[in-house]
Amino acid sequence: MKFQFVDIHTHVNFAAFDKDRDEVIKRASDAGVAMINVGTQVDTSKKAIEMAENHENCYAIVGLHPVHTSKSFHDEKELGEGGKEFTSRGEQFDTSVYRSMLKHPKVVGIGECGLDYYHLDEESIKIQQENFEMQIDLANEAGKPLMLHVRSNKESGKSAYKDALEILKARAKVKGNFHFFAGTWDEAKQILDFGYTISFTGVITFARDYDEVIKNAPLEMIMSETDAPYVSPAPFRGKRNEPAHVREVVKKIAEIRGEDYEKVRAQLAENAGRVFGL
Ligand SMILES: [Zn+2]
Repeated sequence: MKFQFVDIHTHVNFAAFDKDRDEVIKRASDAGVAMINVGTQVDTSKKAIEMAENHENCYAIVGLHPVHTSKSFHDEKELGEGGKEFTSRGEQFDTSVYRSMLKHPKVVGIGECGLDYYHLDEESIKIQQENFEMQIDLANEAGKPLMLHVRSNKESGKSAYKDALEILKARAKVKGNFHFFAGTWDEAKQILDFGYTISFTGVITFARDYDEVIKNAPLEMIMSETDAPYVSPAPFRGKRNEPAHVREVVKKIAEIRGEDYEKVRAQLAENAGRVFGL
């Protein structure tokens, strides 16, 4: 592995970085950090590919985020200013468009796709599932791994992890990673037993909810990410996040596990290389 760290899930392709994208990528590069910019619909997927073409430490994953399958969610950090009432376009997964993007050698996976029970209602969940299944089928065809966005709704008690795993077990022929893991150890164990990996964000630097999962999971099955521009790790909380900060996540994983920092750093980079073929 030629990089010291890999931020396996980030969004420097988003509008939040329009003014200083090249500097952000350079800071990561200077810190030995490679990044996988993850698409959330066609435009952000294309942007991720363009960045991968221009920067050695950038890779891309292309796909359709579950919250963009309905006309209800607009995030200014992602898409730029559009006014508070603006809604997302409600894209439906177009296999042929994404298939051609997947031919690019620096596109290392499909996603982020999956199930998001946090924002949306029953009707939209059905649409999310259909779009999820189409992306699994294309991943099977391309032989590339899935980058999964799976979020439960704690109020309703509905486990999106359980439902996503059921769909994957019935359909997927490729492996994948559950990004921003925020479930229980029981859910994590089922994911790991199925051979899928999980990744952690800067949230682990200030919330103690995931310590058990971080300690129990095999070191070969976990990875580091920032999900920038969101969830900056301590000591950068409240500011825009960026890939160079993935070092704080790696440091914290070593600390929580009580393992040698250098060993953890090297293994997490190795894992990213193995799962995404970097
Ligand atoms: Zn993301």
